Amino acid sequence: MTRRRGLLIVISGPSGVGKDTLIQQLLKRDGNLGKSVSFTTRPPRPGEVPDVDYVFTTRPEFELARREGKLLESAEYDGHLYATSAPMVEELRSAGRDTILKIDVQGAEQVRKLVRAALFIFIAPPSMDELGLRLRKRKTESDKDLAARREIAKTEMSYSPRYDYVVVNDDVDRAADEVLGIIREARERQT
Ligand code: 5GP
Repeated sequence: MTRRRGLLIVISGPSGVGKDTLIQQLLKRDGNLGKSVSFTTRPPRPGEVPDVDYVFTTRPEFELARREGKLLESAEYDGHLYATSAPMVEELRSAGRDTILKIDVQGAEQVRKLVRAALFIFIAPPSMDELGLRLRKRKTESDKDLAARREIAKTEMSYSPRYDYVVVNDDVDRAADEVLGIIREARERQT
């Protein structure tokens, strides 16, 4: 019997919407899910664990990985580079894991061209005011970065109609239930 190839699940949404907490819940509740760890040139935030949250890297190393064809997609966000590791995604999917990419809207556009069958899920805030509040509460960005991320959020929201599903993160447990439902339906369609 051949092993089922894992799905590719793209999750996007504006900074502060709660993607990380939501994805943690998904991983905890569904053992067949895996998350790709991205490369970034952004410095680590307090509490972030290298090679778990991100592979923190330098611009020259990032560009080398690009030249070596190791990047599935990449984007510049708020002055830093981010990319998905093609070999890591391949490893997870060929092991049968449904693989989550937590990427921005520019990256999602690239994946859409490469992988037609990927599942595209946009996580939206209940309102833009609520998003601003969550970002401020997080206290991980300087005032300058906060303002930049709020500006980017407006553009990102305009991409939501391009996604297969828009899930409002009003409550993380409820939103996780909804996303798991979407993933299970996609698994059934695949078999
Ligand atoms: P943060 O700095 O808040 O961790 O991430 C900033 C933005 O970059 C978020 O929208 C996040 O989803 C996105 N991002 C994280 N990793 C990747 C990646 O590998 N590729 C792309 N295109 N975006 C990413």
